[in-house]
Amino acid sequence: MSFADGIFRNPLPVNDPVPSHAPGSPERARLQAELARQSDVVLEIPCVVGGVRHFTGQVVEVRNPCDHNHLLARAHLATPALVEQAIAASQAAAGPWAGLPWEERAAVFLRAASLLAGPWRDRVNAATMLGQAKTCHQAEIDAACELVDFWRFNVHFYRELLSQQPPAEAAATWNRTELRPLEGFVFAVTPFNFTSIALNLPTAPALLGNVALWKPSNTQLLSAWVGMELLEAAGLPPGVINFLPGDGADVGEPALASPHFAGLHFTGSTATFQHLYQRIAAQLPRYRSFPRIVGETGGKDFILAHTSADVDALAVAALRGAFEFQGQKCSAASRMFVPRSLWPRLRDQLVGHMDALRMGDVRDFQTFIGAVIDERAWTKHRAFQALGGVGARTLRGGGGDRSTGWFIEPTLVEVEAPDHRLLAEEVFGPVLATFVYEDNAWDDVMRLIDQGSPYALTGAVFANDRHAVHSALGGLRQAAGNFYINDKPTGAVVGQQPFGGARRSGTNDKAGAAANLMRWASPRTIKENLCPPTDWRYPFLG
Ligand code: NAD
Repeated sequence: MSFADGIFRNPLPVNDPVPSHAPGSPERARLQAELARQSDVVLEIPCVVGGVRHFTGQVVEVRNPCDHNHLLARAHLATPALVEQAIAASQAAAGPWAGLPWEERAAVFLRAASLLAGPWRDRVNAATMLGQAKTCHQAEIDAACELVDFWRFNVHFYRELLSQQPPAEAAATWNRTELRPLEGFVFAVTPFNFTSIALNLPTAPALLGNVALWKPSNTQLLSAWVGMELLEAAGLPPGVINFLPGDGADVGEPALASPHFAGLHFTGSTATFQHLYQRIAAQLPRYRSFPRIVGETGGKDFILAHTSADVDALAVAALRGAFEFQGQKCSAASRMFVPRSLWPRLRDQLVGHMDALRMGDVRDFQTFIGAVIDERAWTKHRAFQALGGVGARTLRGGGGDRSTGWFIEPTLVEVEAPDHRLLAEEVFGPVLATFVYEDNAWDDVMRLIDQGSPYALTGAVFANDRHAVHSALGGLRQAAGNFYINDKPTGAVVGQQPFGGARRSGTNDKAGAAANLMRWASPRTIKENLCPPTDWRYPFLG
């Protein structure tokens, strides 16, 4: 028997507050104890299909980026045959899950949010710190606060969408809209850099009654696994989200070849998204429906300073925007445009701040800069740092150290030519390229920002002059999906600054907003005639 009488409200979401972790605080002591506990164990991470754990024996090692001798886990990778099993498990779970009233599904994610805000907080934060080399603050704002917010705000927006109903003609008809899940499964493919994104991508569609296959990144597996365990603890039924660590093609090819494939929820690099989009296009006739494709991808995020900018604020925004989490945020500032009259002061302040940054193991709470994610990233960043000597000058940093962990020095480069590679390509590491423009070249520099890179994710203008702010809003209208005035271009907050960009930065479906949730719904319009006519003749027939 099913019952759901009552128009239920969700608890009103508020953004989860960020604890300070100041010396002597209880949260600091708790997190340090959890870090010590997790540092001493080596986990075996399985695949989870239909609620069953699979130890495939095909294993990848999960290591601490700050100390690559430190083995954190061995993760068992999905084989193509296991992916087929996961598709079957998802289809078996689909009917019962979609058949639950919305508030029963919502309760699973509200419960997950409350567990994460409470007893699971340190576990998820510590796993994110150890596995992804985030400082305690960076782990908090990602793995705890943002994920709690995603889960609570998604429920809130979902209920708002459900309550958007068409008008009805008085007495004659009753019009209703219901939000059905997609037919088939959603394939969630997630990046290494945000635990919150990794967990949001499979769960947002699941909230709306969809089932999912989730392929996390091989360099985020520790926190992904803790997140999967948390979802199980919150009561997520078996088969609704199937956890499939694995190599891209081993999981991606069978998932995209399935007639049950109904949607891709992706965050990662532009190149991988293009590849997946093409694979979907090539196999369109196989699918029952036209798949929904949502992808948030790379960025080449900018800071534009006007001659009226506050230099103190600009120096802090540049430092935090470019170097926090080692520049491995899609929104990280990586190109900065500064008028000649401000540059000497800004440069000296920024270099001064950089001199004070501590780089090291994130378990030491004095650390501001941890390691980059893996050897591949380290090698790539070293190559970008080398460009600081070609048509450019490295003002601070430029080094790297791989003896213990994958450390890359925060690097400030002044480039000479406006078409320098460091002004165009995504680095995804702690390298900030600065171009100094003549004070009277404001319009030219806006054109350079707009056209100098194929991405359009985030950007910031620093100015006290309102005419300058207004002209930047116009001149850079298509250059960023998230635009900041007198603030760093990172740190979007769920429910306040819905996130996403266009051009090569993705489909701009704004994660954590109602717009994103609608991509996972297939609305059905229901018209009921409350008193159907019984005479076929219209009055005009006389
Ligand atoms: P990536 O593209 O290397 O990997 C993303 C995911 O795709 C991983 O899980 C990877 O294993 C998987 N993958 C790769 N090839 C595949 C295939 N053939 N089939 C199926 N899956 C495949 O990206 P990354 O290094 O993990 O993340 C960094 C990138 O993500 C950066 O470009 C960054 O800008 C972007 N990013 C964007 C946003 C945003 O909101 N716009 C947020 C975070 C990260």
